[in-house]
Amino acid sequence: MSGLQLNDVYQARQRIASLIRQTPMEYSPSLSRHMGVAVYLKLESQQITGSFKLRGASNAVAQLTAEQRARGVVAASTGNHGRALAYAASQLQVKATICLSQLVPSNKVQAIRELGAEVCIVGRSQDDAQREAERIAQEQGATLLPPFDHPAIIAGQGTLGLEIIEQIPDVAQVLVPLSGGGLFSGVALALKAANPNIRLHGISMQRGAAMHASLEAGQPVHVQELPTLADSLGGGIGLDNRFTFSMTRALCDQLHLLDEASLGNGVRHAYFEERQVVEGAAAVGISALLDGLIEPRGPIVVVVGGRNVDLEQHQRVLAGANQ
Ligand SMILES: *Cc1c(COP(=O)(O)O)cnc(C)c1O
Repeated sequence: MSGLQLNDVYQARQRIASLIRQTPMEYSPSLSRHMGVAVYLKLESQQITGSFKLRGASNAVAQLTAEQRARGVVAASTGNHGRALAYAASQLQVKATICLSQLVPSNKVQAIRELGAEVCIVGRSQDDAQREAERIAQEQGATLLPPFDHPAIIAGQGTLGLEIIEQIPDVAQVLVPLSGGGLFSGVALALKAANPNIRLHGISMQRGAAMHASLEAGQPVHVQELPTLADSLGGGIGLDNRFTFSMTRALCDQLHLLDEASLGNGVRHAYFEERQVVEGAAAVGISALLDGLIEPRGPIVVVVGGRNVDLEQHQRVLAGANQ
């Protein structure tokens, strides 16, 4: 399928142990009441740099050779991967250049600069930013580290799956935010190896769901990128996708698409009922439960992927807006 094995995930876990935080698994009384079965939130929003992306980025940077470290790393990112890579690189004394599209919220751009990375802002889409990152990799001999379609990134995100199975050994269903599928592929690899009966849901927004469109088409396809509250789920999966498309196709039991109103409800629920500040992309699991999309078979674990929302936007959403 991809050549990736469970052992790669265990090795990743050792490699990144000192660079990441094991995140809390919180029981949710309100969602458990709503579902009639136990629901837990895996709060990767409390990860260092504010998202799970640090797992994959740390695992990738930690594996570079001395020569690669000397030449630096470069990436295109909707924000959280760039931020994570900037942090991991600074921890390991490697230079990082991060390419972003103009759609990326300014709070995320600022956070990346503050971590000491060089930032370049180009174009209107993730694809534009990606082309610029490739150009810089060519020109400077820097190592291009993509946000999801890379074995070290997938194995790193998979360490989250190992934590889930340890924290809730009898977990029946896991809800995973899905964009390029690095998170889903890694977590699914770890969980299905532990117990193939665990039901895995991939959840995206309706506005620009590239993995969903690609799975429907039977091959990676281009999807127009649209503004959405779940900005961290934006971007394509790459027409030359090598790993995450086939892994997601093989390991995903069910896919769900949410509208913007549903995303807003999830962000509000996270804040008012769970006391958690989360970004739109991280609320999708909560939204899917509130929408009645998931059968009541528990325990259910909801992966809450990040908290890097623009705080003014967060205020607007709490007040009832959905953007
Ligand atoms: C990157 C990201 C996702 C999607 O991860 P993929 O590996 O691209 O599927 C979901 N939520 C947050 C907060 C992210 O930063």
